Amino acid sequence: MELSQAAKAILEKRYLKKKYGQVIETPEDMFRRVANNIAMAEENYCKHHVAEMTEAFFQIMTRLEFLPNSPTLMNAGRDLQQLSACFVIPVEDSIEGIFDALKVAALIHKSGGGTGFSFSRLRPKNDTVQTTGGVASGPLSFMKIFNVATEEIKQGGARRGANMAILRVDHPDILDFIKAKKDATKYTNFNFSVAITDEFMQAVAVNTTYGLRNPHTNKIVTELLATDVYNAIIDMAWHNGEPGVVFIDRINGANPTPHVGYIESTNPCGEQPLLPYESCNLGSINLAKFVNDNKEIDWERLKYVTGTAVQFLDNVIDMNQYPLESIAEVTKGNRKIGLGVMGFTDMLIQLGVGYAEDRAVEIAEQVMGFIHTEARNASKELATWRGAFPNYKGSIYEQQGLPLRNATLTTIAPTGTISMIADCSSGIEPLYALAYKRKIIDEESDMQINQHVKKLLEEHGINNKNLLERISERGSVQGINEIPLELQKLLVTAHDITPKQHVRMQAAFQKYTDNAVSKTVNFPSNASKGDIAKVFNLAYETGCKGITVYRDGSRLGQILQVSSVT
Ligand code: UDP
Repeated sequence: MELSQAAKAILEKRYLKKKYGQVIETPEDMFRRVANNIAMAEENYCKHHVAEMTEAFFQIMTRLEFLPNSPTLMNAGRDLQQLSACFVIPVEDSIEGIFDALKVAALIHKSGGGTGFSFSRLRPKNDTVQTTGGVASGPLSFMKIFNVATEEIKQGGARRGANMAILRVDHPDILDFIKAKKDATKYTNFNFSVAITDEFMQAVAVNTTYGLRNPHTNKIVTELLATDVYNAIIDMAWHNGEPGVVFIDRINGANPTPHVGYIESTNPCGEQPLLPYESCNLGSINLAKFVNDNKEIDWERLKYVTGTAVQFLDNVIDMNQYPLESIAEVTKGNRKIGLGVMGFTDMLIQLGVGYAEDRAVEIAEQVMGFIHTEARNASKELATWRGAFPNYKGSIYEQQGLPLRNATLTTIAPTGTISMIADCSSGIEPLYALAYKRKIIDEESDMQINQHVKKLLEEHGINNKNLLERISERGSVQGINEIPLELQKLLVTAHDITPKQHVRMQAAFQKYTDNAVSKTVNFPSNASKGDIAKVFNLAYETGCKGITVYRDGSRLGQILQVSSVT
């Protein structure tokens, strides 16, 4: 199979089996190990499917048409056998509860999973502690401990542990939370998001106050002007991109199993809302592989891969070894999976459509709508012989008379690493730069040029070294006279696109995604706070489940950096 140099390097470093520090499997062996292991779940249902599905899973992975999330690639068929990227762990308002959550998080990080927590149940800072007569430290103080623990575990773990910290906008410590990451050296292993309610957004709209509630006593302790809090969030998002926000009422409005529990948090990158103690395994279809020589989408193949991927991810739930019995219970009760896409921009380039064009939004809806429908069809079909998910009774699907095998089917993940393995553009993001250096795990890699961009430039006879250097120094082809205008329109980067267009694309994918969409809305460094506010409002109005913005240059240790060809 063909893999890029960068893909081989990543696989060797963290994914392939090693003995005494030496790699003892090839990438093909790895895919064989994963396919064998995941197809074993067929034995639970229909033994004679095992060989056929092993081959089908092996094929879609080695053709780089579909890849499961990293923990599945790393751990399937090995001692750890922890296959999920996403977990949400509840944090109870007691010392015992807090440290229980910390222990579970440590076990999850060790195995390459990420954890999300809502700290909203913790009593605020300076509240009373009955048993000791002392005063409570509050959510932010305990979060420091989680941060340090994550830091230590990442040294020995499969990969850097990641956390999401959520605090409800009506928690009394909300202003401290919003400002906590002003100092970029603090809480480095956390993404911060404020859980915003509809009540809060209404209070912003009519410029009134809203109540802040002590979760311990369930009493309103104070009121704040909603616009003051909203502006504080926007100030900080402008300052360095954090906190993001999640629209928690909208997320719970789409909760497929409200009878099982309330969703209070998402996973670290925001794309997967989950119940307390729920986990989810993700997988992504590489859209770059579905454009045929006539520059058309190969719908037949896309349908086949979607169906096979759904069966793969459903099997993962059976084969998974869960770090805690309560996690196994909730996860197996709902059987949520998160099938998404990567290589969307590569697909657009092959189709000759620029990311900022209206046509790109239409294609997004068409492709994700198709995947969503086909994923549901596959899950419905699986339910006929494997049974509907155990919590089906009482779920929103029971009301619709739609027995499904899985309570959710679609999620758009960032695909930070698996897109590098597949050598495609990540998730639904536009290209960040046409040439750049990318951090692989913790180290910087060599210069990268998107293969489709390279091909296109060559087709247009653009291989003049000076010109290529100019492109890579700027990261963009906009305004370079030697580049034909049609190419300039096609080869837009994240910075060439307006923030509004980013949100439009996020909303287009969200329309056909059961869970949420990982997307960064890029702003130029000279963007104003008002620009950021407009985009937050737009995300709310267009049905997004949350929003994360990033103003160019506003954070140290930027993940991707534009660089020149060497
Ligand atoms: N994740 C994590 N640590 C990481 C990267 C990712 O825990 O270093 C988790 C996190 O929950 C994130 C999810 O994996 O939201 C999916 O991330 P991504 O799609 O980038 O993962 P990949 O499968 O490409 O490695």
